[in-house]
Amino acid sequence: MIIALVTALTLLCSGIARAQAGADAAPAFFKLVELAPGVFAATDIDGKAGANAGFVIGDDGVLVVDSFYKPEAAQALLAEIHKRTALPLRFLVNTHYHIDHVSGNRIFAAAGAQVIGQQRMHDWVQSENMKFLGSKATDADRERIRNLLPPQLGYGQTLHVWLGRRSVLLRSWPGHTGSDTVAYVPDAGVMFGGDLLWSRSIPNLIDATVAQWTQSLERMAEDEGVRYNIIVPGHGEVASQTELAEFKTYLTELRGVVAKLQRQGLAGDALQDAALEELNARYGSWRYNRLMRSNVRDMADELAGTKRLPGTPQRR
Ligand SMILES: [Zn+2]
Repeated sequence: MIIALVTALTLLCSGIARAQAGADAAPAFFKLVELAPGVFAATDIDGKAGANAGFVIGDDGVLVVDSFYKPEAAQALLAEIHKRTALPLRFLVNTHYHIDHVSGNRIFAAAGAQVIGQQRMHDWVQSENMKFLGSKATDADRERIRNLLPPQLGYGQTLHVWLGRRSVLLRSWPGHTGSDTVAYVPDAGVMFGGDLLWSRSIPNLIDATVAQWTQSLERMAEDEGVRYNIIVPGHGEVASQTELAEFKTYLTELRGVVAKLQRQGLAGDALQDAALEELNARYGSWRYNRLMRSNVRDMADELAGTKRLPGTPQRR
């Protein structure tokens, strides 16, 4: 299990980005693209940043979404922001607690940002991230997690943040960790989806409840008053509704296949082998495809009612 977790985290942090025309010359950690006036995506290059991030320039300040796995990448993003605006850094939104999205929090906080997150993630930044370390963790590894800065401001379901006239709407949806935030920029038609959306990438289900996740993806698509055509996923390239629909289909098919095999009496390795045989043809080419096996196991645990979720005691 621990090896699987370490593998999962390693995979989480080793994405492959494809070159995209029109991108700014950016530091090697990420590719920076202006999606709409003042709305930027910073997409991970070859796992060098560990995850995607972005920022929004308003009339009176800047809001950043996520702070990467590598603090050096956060420092580079801060430098890119300073090149584009003299407005103050006002907020950093964490889409969830996973270490690949919060490691640069202190860098943005030191530059003036208030860190915002869904209220449940506050404690999990330090407690739940410890599980990713595995058995070979050193004191320095543990110290690194103890030093992560949790959000300073928490919210429950919805929070409006105004950067002068420009607004950013934060909404929390269940499914990926139970503490996830999606950030909409309504005037630009952009959604920062965090790890609720993976673009042509096999997601990490370690903390997931797939039944809630698929419902969230449906409800997000019908969210009243929020229209978006451009989606910045937590991992993978900038996406559209097409990739969101593909991702939802992956989760639905995973659940359907595992449930069917369980009804046939399969469990353990036999269930995992049979499920992968069915899923590989369609999803074997996605990024992080080595997570497919652990996803089958996590899905089986969820359906059996034995899945351990963040903030609850360890089951195994
Ligand atoms: Zn992530």
